[in-house]
Amino acid sequence: MIYTLLIVAYLVSSVLFILSLRGLSSQETARKGNVYGIIGMAIAVGATLTVPGVDLYAVLVPALAIGAVIGWLMAARVAMTAMPELVALLHSFVGAAAVLVGFASYLDPAMYKGHGSGVFLTEVFIDVFIGAITFTGSVVAFLKLKGKVSGTPLLLPGRHMLNLGLLVGSIALGVLYVQTGNPFVGGELATEGLMWLGIMTALAGVLGVHLVMAIGGADMPVVVSMLNSYSGWTAAAAGFMLSNDLLIVTGALVGSSGAILSYIMCRAMNRSIWNVIFGGFGTASAAPPKPREGAPGEVQETDIDGLLAELLGARDVVIVPGYGMAVARAQHAVNDLTQLLRDRGIRVRFAIHPVAGRLPGHMNVLLAEANVPYDIVLEMEEINDDLPRTDVSLVIGANDIVNPIAQEEGSPISGMPVLEVWESDRTVIFKRSRRTGYAGVDNPLFYHEKTRMLFGDANDSVSALVAALRARAAGG
Ligand code: NDP
Repeated sequence: MIYTLLIVAYLVSSVLFILSLRGLSSQETARKGNVYGIIGMAIAVGATLTVPGVDLYAVLVPALAIGAVIGWLMAARVAMTAMPELVALLHSFVGAAAVLVGFASYLDPAMYKGHGSGVFLTEVFIDVFIGAITFTGSVVAFLKLKGKVSGTPLLLPGRHMLNLGLLVGSIALGVLYVQTGNPFVGGELATEGLMWLGIMTALAGVLGVHLVMAIGGADMPVVVSMLNSYSGWTAAAAGFMLSNDLLIVTGALVGSSGAILSYIMCRAMNRSIWNVIFGGFGTASAAPPKPREGAPGEVQETDIDGLLAELLGARDVVIVPGYGMAVARAQHAVNDLTQLLRDRGIRVRFAIHPVAGRLPGHMNVLLAEANVPYDIVLEMEEINDDLPRTDVSLVIGANDIVNPIAQEEGSPISGMPVLEVWESDRTVIFKRSRRTGYAGVDNPLFYHEKTRMLFGDANDSVSALVAALRARAAGG
């Protein structure tokens, strides 16, 4: 009876997770999607506590409570701009858990009862191998995103051979380990298999570090989603190892959705998915960007009055939000600006680059939070062709995603499609300085003849513009 209820609970959770993913695919339904996910996870955890053999409640319940409180506090406190770091850190927990559960299962004599050890040991190997790569890769991704480790790719000579060597070495050790069979056959634990498994874990850990160290700053979004996918596959492997159907289904959902997201992001960034998987893609990253003739040149500044005059004379305005809008929390002021311009009959649209900000969909979330109408928020490919017919492009806290150097050879962002704002009649860039963006690449757009820079915090500048527009409206 308990077993039947357990299966039903797992089934309901799986359906809720699928509904959750579906809900998260659009901003209108994202909240509902989150609620489905929360309910699904609550049922999953509750049901797992009733699994026959799970009885250490004195440890489990406090551990769950402490984990829930820590998770709650972390999620409540994290700034939107630090979200990718948190996601990377959470992926590292999945990897670490997979490794620990893998070792614990290997060392549990009860796991060998009733079936041959070969399949089980292979499941442990796969779980620990992917888990170790996910753990160390995610820790490096976390450190890179936090700025504790340089975003510059570490491109060691012969790095692909090194990766291949680590992979082949891990598999060879895996074969040795599986061949040792059930370690409890002689009564006492035989340590040979444990030794091979331990060395393999260390090699896989080094592989995880090396794969992510070789990837440059601008390509980190794809790495984060790839690690998300790895964390799913490691959970699925743990599901096979522990004969837990829900873990298999959930892991497969996370693994495949992460892989699809990585593929979509790779396409958007004109990168090859295989290069992400094997690390160090975009070999051009090795070469420092070629010095550009005439750059850096003179920037031309504007001020609120100058920009106001340009906007009042415009019919078509495109706003390009970036990471700086998130830092400045300028989205509400940007929404006010949008409304005021629309009230004057000016067409305003938003151009969203797939890697704007610091996490997939970052800008969409902020604009939705500020109540910007969805129908004027367009993807890069939907709006890029309209930029030559645009009067004014307002680049608010964005940098890499509008950098024309991406269209030239030899820079770390070469080949990445960008929003071609320089095609519009006027481009105004809101930022605090001439500093580079996340990829650390100079931006010749600052010196373009049609560009004007509005220096300052994006929220202050947009708010000042809103105040000036309101004053103009009040004065007739
Ligand atoms: P960038 O990081 O390229 O540029 C953001 C700009 O915002 C900076 O140059 C900064 O200039 C400016 N800025 C910062 N604070 C403020 C402020 N308070 N007011 C005004 N401006 C401010 O961001 P983009 O969105 O253009 O590009 C995203 C980059 O992040 C890409 O390289 C992408 O690959 C990478 N990335 C994206 C992830 C994702 O999933 N979307 C994840 C990880 C990385 P200044 O200091 O002069 O003000």
